[in-house]
Amino acid sequence: MSSQDWQSRIDTTVAHPARRYDYWLGGKDNFAADRASGDAIAAKFPAIRTAVVENRRFLRRAVTFLASEVGVRQFLDIGTGLPTANNTHEVAQAIAPESRIAYVDNDPLVLVHARALLTSAPEGGTVYVDADLRDPGKILDDPDLRRTLDLTQPVALLLLAILHFVPEEDDPYSVVRRLLAALPAGSYLVASHATSDYLPPELVADISSGRHGQGRLRTRAEFARFFDGLDLVEPGVVPLAEWRASAEPQPRPTASETAMYAGVARLT
Ligand code: SAH
Repeated sequence: MSSQDWQSRIDTTVAHPARRYDYWLGGKDNFAADRASGDAIAAKFPAIRTAVVENRRFLRRAVTFLASEVGVRQFLDIGTGLPTANNTHEVAQAIAPESRIAYVDNDPLVLVHARALLTSAPEGGTVYVDADLRDPGKILDDPDLRRTLDLTQPVALLLLAILHFVPEEDDPYSVVRRLLAALPAGSYLVASHATSDYLPPELVADISSGRHGQGRLRTRAEFARFFDGLDLVEPGVVPLAEWRASAEPQPRPTASETAMYAGVARLT
């Protein structure tokens, strides 16, 4: 893509999820509109920074579990986000340098920064695909992705803090089914999701109104439906900070401090 193309796709006047998330994480790749939206959410839910840090910790624990305990060597990380600490390939390749990772995001600023994600260990590989989660066919047919991932071998599909940007009218459950249908038995679904269960009603109302962009908070049961038909790994669908977190600093943040659920499940 030429520099003019991506520049014309970057709209700094409205908040973007990747940039707002970067702001909460203390990054520099964000603009005034992202910070205003981030601050408005933080005003109603001050624990948001705890939540995003815990989401990154969950990513690290889940990828570590899959790479070291299960032996997964391929990762499809959709909704990558802007590069930060402990990106998926860094966590996986620290354990197994031959790991291959395909990153996918639809934000043009993530595309601009993608080079920082393409620092693979020589034994492995990383690729970045500019695509939308809601177009699983495009993702799965992407030639670069196909050169990097062997879809006849197990793949961990990572959908971390992205499904809550996909409302019911875009059929997120079928999108996930279509992606999983392309993966063999022994693959995994890893997901985390913001929930309405613990957020103050004023913030739930703001998000539902679209004030912070397109989004759909889900209850525990609504999130758990993404794992229907799969074998959930222990401890199942739980508040994010609790997932296999015995080695993390204690005490763990409470469910209401993260307002996010997470789960990992195996395709049989
Ligand atoms: N997965 C990372 C980043 C989460 S922020 C983590 O958990 O730390 C959410 C990311 O999803 C952003 O980078 C945003 O650009 C991306 N995203 C949101 N909707 C998307 C869509 N429909 N298709 C592709 N990416 C999307």
